[in-house]
Amino acid sequence: MFINLSLDLDLQNSENQIRMYDVPPANSKPYQSGEWVGSTELGGSCNFKSVNVTPHCNGTHTECIGHIVNDKIFLPDILKYPVFFSLLITIPFHIFQHSNDFIIKENYQPKLENGDKVLIKKDIEETLKLYFSEFKNQKIEGLIIRTVPNDLSKKNRDYNLNPAPFFTNDAISFITDWGFKHLIVDIPSLDKAFDEGYLSNHHIFWNQKLKNYSLENSAFMDKTITELVFIPEEVQDGFYETFIGFPNWREEAVPSSVWIKK
Ligand SMILES: [Zn+2]
Repeated sequence: MFINLSLDLDLQNSENQIRMYDVPPANSKPYQSGEWVGSTELGGSCNFKSVNVTPHCNGTHTECIGHIVNDKIFLPDILKYPVFFSLLITIPFHIFQHSNDFIIKENYQPKLENGDKVLIKKDIEETLKLYFSEFKNQKIEGLIIRTVPNDLSKKNRDYNLNPAPFFTNDAISFITDWGFKHLIVDIPSLDKAFDEGYLSNHHIFWNQKLKNYSLENSAFMDKTITELVFIPEEVQDGFYETFIGFPNWREEAVPSSVWIKK
């Protein structure tokens, strides 16, 4: 049985949606042309709507390297075979503090600040070790990361009021070194929301130098990031067949649905 990890996106109800930055909620409204209106309730012959969506902030979406370079690179050209095996792991975040001898000896660009919630390499490394022997037998292209706590408020959280955890640069370098091609996370971004525009983790993942917006020869073109999924408690860590569904929009990021199966 397939399990859907995508967030519901209720276009009629902005209250039920994730919020990030000042991006408006996704919404739809009846199309109108002269006298004709695309709503049976308003006298039209059928329901016929226009939809407004900003994929990076309005729920589950998948993005490619086109997100961070000038070159026009589109998701459907990158993710041609959206079926692969993934490992699902669960890790906590840690709250960074300068003052004490903090356990985190990991870095982030820009520098970490007091109160930052960070997802660290050490936890990922220790968790992946548990599965190391099983990796030899199969090709695992995806890594799905569930963060804890994992309460239902993640489905419609206002991340402006409740800033999300993000990865240290060491964590993303580690994931990159393991060779995962598709990273699927339940947070709005690999990076801190207000990060002086570095998107340092995105750059590490795609092997692009910071603040360089021209595609580099050594960039990892075939990799994707999926953000804002929700992984129910009853779904256990382990290996899954994974499918990412999305409309063939020629865009760098596209709303998506992620399905997994044992
Ligand atoms: Zn995004």
